[in-house]
Amino acid sequence: MPKIGNSAKAFAKLVIPAPIRWKMRQLQYWISVLSAVSAGGGTHECPICGFSGEFGAAGMPMRPGAICPRCRSGERQRLLHLAIERLNLLTDTRCLLHFAPENCLTKTITKYVPDYKTADLLPGRASMVLNIEKIDLPDRSFEAIIAMHVLEHVEDRAALNEIRRVLVPGGMFIVAVPIAEAWETTYENPAVVSKHDRTLHFGAEDHRRWYGRDFRDRLKKAGFTVEEYKGDGSEVVKYGLVRGDTIFICRAQKAA
Ligand SMILES: [Zn+2]
Repeated sequence: MPKIGNSAKAFAKLVIPAPIRWKMRQLQYWISVLSAVSAGGGTHECPICGFSGEFGAAGMPMRPGAICPRCRSGERQRLLHLAIERLNLLTDTRCLLHFAPENCLTKTITKYVPDYKTADLLPGRASMVLNIEKIDLPDRSFEAIIAMHVLEHVEDRAALNEIRRVLVPGGMFIVAVPIAEAWETTYENPAVVSKHDRTLHFGAEDHRRWYGRDFRDRLKKAGFTVEEYKGDGSEVVKYGLVRGDTIFICRAQKAA
């Protein structure tokens, strides 16, 4: 089968000009979007805004039932909301820094945290412009930090050391990344640098790796203890989550 597929592709390359092949790929994409949307993602409940009904599709490849149409939350934001509420993560937190902030989580966080700050590398996206690899803040500035799907974009060892420095001793770091749990070790490849190759190897044009189970070791090496929160099978269906998605709840260990 792969041989037939490759031959067909090679034939198409020979007889169809590149601009037309590109248009055909776009058309193929939009057909897949329409089919995913029309298939629907089932009825879910949003734990963030209370919406109950049909959720929208998102992503490439499409994930039917991913987006709450009222608050625009995705699967991982709903999972983080559940973790915050069920584990009472923020009840004693007075100041929190949220990297690459997700607006749909603002109410969830500010319900508990009086001093809520947001940060992004690019201006205009958050209350502060900060580079997570070199955070321009004094030591021990925050009691909690959130970074959802940020570490796969950056030099993560530098970022983890900076996050630990900026947290108070015992402070909390809430984090999620794309993980292939079947892999023992994280896949990194210094030869992969172009946008095309990064998409092919790591799932997006600006991703630098695809984590394996050893993500936990990176957190521990940076001086954190690690706990995990996941939705169970029925919660995945009820709230429109991704099976096996994990929120890591890390605590900055006090220096020896
Ligand atoms: Zn919602």
